Amino acid sequence: MSSSNHQPIIIANWKMNLLVSDTIRLVKSLIRSLNGESLPVELVICPSYPALLPVRDLIKKTRIALGAQDVFWKDSGPYTGEISPSILKEVGVSYVLVGHSERRNYLKETEPMIHHKVLTCLTEKLTPVICVGETLNERQQGNKDTVIFQQVKSALTGVQLASDQSIIIAYEPVWVIGSGQAVSYSDAAQTAQVIKEALFDLFSFKIVANNFRIIYGGSVDSSNARDFAKGEILSGILVGGASLKAAQLMNIIKSVS
Ligand code: PEP
Repeated sequence: MSSSNHQPIIIANWKMNLLVSDTIRLVKSLIRSLNGESLPVELVICPSYPALLPVRDLIKKTRIALGAQDVFWKDSGPYTGEISPSILKEVGVSYVLVGHSERRNYLKETEPMIHHKVLTCLTEKLTPVICVGETLNERQQGNKDTVIFQQVKSALTGVQLASDQSIIIAYEPVWVIGSGQAVSYSDAAQTAQVIKEALFDLFSFKIVANNFRIIYGGSVDSSNARDFAKGEILSGILVGGASLKAAQLMNIIKSVS
């Protein structure tokens, strides 16, 4: 299926913001707000690890999908504190954020680590959501496009995709995350074009068209979400802060559908 045939995708990244009890309340409230109506978008929620199991049970009868905020690149073994793709799979996860800028920054995740995480996600048939983005300094130096191109290439060089596997690339300018001010649609669309060029260096036209989606993240809310999800070059959004309240998330869902 071509990415333009998909419904817009909304990925809610709840980071380390909620207790398990808060998460359960939020999911229940979201389900109540949906009121049994079919979702007009693909909605993926990414709670903290301990909340995955209870959330899986809560969303069982809905079309909401479960995402994880990270993964380790080995499938089992002596890796204290890490979590494997097969454990994530077992608790109902189907999407995994990989290379979020907070992990690149605070946890010093490197490009080879991100590349290996992408590979293990694909082995376990999880969809990686690869986050790429420039810092303010990189943008001000005129290096945005080079940085993005290189992040995409290093995450994906050597990756083989089966026809039923997909990858999402999330363009998230680091300096915009949590700032309250998203970049303009044309800015994000121009960067998405750079991402596409990097993909065309690695994959056939058909694979890029059918198996990849590019989305935008960074201070998305209901006032700007629609642009980023209209399905031209960008087909969805990754939302942090504005996805932490059911009413706000519902407004975003309504605005893009
Ligand atoms: C994020 O960190 O992935 C994000 C999109 O955050 P926010 O929406 O809060 O800018």
